[in-house]
Amino acid sequence: MVFFPPRSFPPLPLIPDDVAICDFMLDERYGRFSLSESQNPFTCGLSGKSYSWLEVRNRVDYLSRALSKEFNWHPNRGTEWDKVAACFLLNTIDNLSLFWAIHRLCGVATPANAAYSAAELTYQLKDSKATALFTCVPLLETALTAAKQAGIPQNRIYLVDLPLEFVGNAKAPPQFKTLEQLIETGKSLPKVEPLKWGPGQGVRTTAFVCYSSGTSGLPKGVMISHRNVIANSIQICTFEGTFRPTTDTPYHEVVLCLLPQSHIYALVYMCHAVPYRGDGVIVLPKFDINTFLNSIQRFRINILFLVPPIIITMLRNQELMKKYDLSSVTAIFTGAAPLGAETAKELHSIFPDWAIRQGYGLTETATVVCATTNNDIWFGSSGNFLPGVEARLVSPDGNEILEYDTPGELVIRSPSVVLGYLHNEKATKETFRDGWMFTGDEAVIRVGPKGTEHMFIVDRIKELIKVKGLQVAPAELEAHLLEHPLVADCAVIAVPDEAAGEVPKAFVVKSPSATQDDTSIIQAIKKHVEDHKARHKWLKGGVQFLEVIPKSPSGKILRRLLRDQEREARKRA
Ligand code: AMP
Repeated sequence: MVFFPPRSFPPLPLIPDDVAICDFMLDERYGRFSLSESQNPFTCGLSGKSYSWLEVRNRVDYLSRALSKEFNWHPNRGTEWDKVAACFLLNTIDNLSLFWAIHRLCGVATPANAAYSAAELTYQLKDSKATALFTCVPLLETALTAAKQAGIPQNRIYLVDLPLEFVGNAKAPPQFKTLEQLIETGKSLPKVEPLKWGPGQGVRTTAFVCYSSGTSGLPKGVMISHRNVIANSIQICTFEGTFRPTTDTPYHEVVLCLLPQSHIYALVYMCHAVPYRGDGVIVLPKFDINTFLNSIQRFRINILFLVPPIIITMLRNQELMKKYDLSSVTAIFTGAAPLGAETAKELHSIFPDWAIRQGYGLTETATVVCATTNNDIWFGSSGNFLPGVEARLVSPDGNEILEYDTPGELVIRSPSVVLGYLHNEKATKETFRDGWMFTGDEAVIRVGPKGTEHMFIVDRIKELIKVKGLQVAPAELEAHLLEHPLVADCAVIAVPDEAAGEVPKAFVVKSPSATQDDTSIIQAIKKHVEDHKARHKWLKGGVQFLEVIPKSPSGKILRRLLRDQEREARKRA
């Protein structure tokens, strides 16, 4: 049985297949609100600095001229794979201009998580074959180490400015060119030739490579095409047209973007769909409860894009929240990890006027698949499918689920389903079959109070761990732990955590050389992770010793067994 969006939703308009993201965003021919009627797309939540659309368009233009000269990249020469630039950045109001300038030259931007260690960044630089690196002063040391490992020379490293309110007196070392310097240089350079794309080129051409571990194994480069991002932006805007007052006159909202622009949720929804529909985005480099509340008050923000751990922090800081004027907020939108019905109800009891909406999506579906609308909210649900999405549920033995309220793996078809995994045909074939994407998430469909079909995520079949909405691949941590001389074998699973949603826990079989006391061994193992991996990958769920890791006859770790045992142990505790 195929599930569709509610019949009352408008059909999906035609999605252009011959245009690059930069032109789609910056050229009024592609259906966006007029540039002059739209709000300033990006405003810094710390400094208040803001760009109009005209300024963004000029900056993209000048930057593309400078990058073309700097790298000898030409919009209509070579393939996008000759022009890969890594972007290891904190959120800024310039990041999207940078991405669009890279696209203007038919290049690929590969955004990396700002929390990455040098080893993690090196992996992405090498895997994506990036030949240039954009970073910022607070991340420079890590970037330099990784660039060296990956063979990117220093003269191919550039700095994006952060607000003084964030970096204080830390100055950009003069040997690195800054984005502002490139833009200044670009002003006196010849204009870059327009992209000459024929039909279908936007479908085939990769715009972003974001990293996701998919259903199993190590993080993989997800090839996201220009049309994927354009499609999802149009899908989101069409969907939102069902509850925004009107779709054809400007209806401006101010939204908050503090989630990392390197992750698909902020990248596509907040930084493409939202500005495309004419709204303004207030950008914060990272989450800090005081700055967050202050920005809402200062910029009269209407919609907060959040992940569940931030909602938990809000609930724990109710006294502090009372000190700020939050009366501008009409809705929150949460995604990237499940928001439990109980948490949603608690937030609702404090802010009864806020629409508490949840969405579901993946890097592999560039991003949103379903979401709750303002007028059909059902706590715990991830909402209705977006226009253009088709969904099926498949049982473990491969049969189609035909009834409501019966769990099965969620399988999606949508114009935003990505091209596949970079250099990984095997994983691509496993996940993308006959035009359908197998999500690795277990879902049920239920009919909601308003008579529409809602999707609920009930479990995760795949190996992924989600810490504060960020991915942790168990296979990556297991490979790392096995490098430690005290570890003979291991398995990593997710365990629940009130603040982070989930955290990783390691089960370890000690090696014969592990003769120290258990506390010292646990400390050494944890330190091994903390020294080399981003903070969200640390073993906050603990380390437990086992005699043997349970495995199938083919050697696959029986994670479900470990998870069930862990659940039972926690119940008893
Ligand atoms: P990512 O590619 O990092 O966006 O991770 C996608 C995964 O996050 C999905 O496959 C789900 O496991 C999880 N996820 C995203 N949104 C939700 C949600 N609303 N409820 C439950 N899990 C979610």
